[in-house]
Amino acid sequence: MNDASFICAICQQERENRWLKSGRNRHIAPLCWSCEESYRARVTAGSFMDRRKASQIFALSEALCGKAHALKWEAQYGRA
Ligand SMILES: [Zn+2]
Repeated sequence: MNDASFICAICQQERENRWLKSGRNRHIAPLCWSCEESYRARVTAGSFMDRRKASQIFALSEALCGKAHALKWEAQYGRA
């Protein structure tokens, strides 16, 4: 793992920005772009980076909520 790479907080895969050092679709630690796109909310106000950070916070909270529901379901009904 070099300086430009990181482990995504949701999917736990190593991501790097070797080809996307800048640009709107680059990974911004701690989330990769695909996880951010999967879980995020549409944020319409603020500058570009403010919207990306707000989207990341929402994506992290959604992932935590989903994991908590899965653990609760497992505790109640057992592993599927
Ligand atoms: Zn990810």
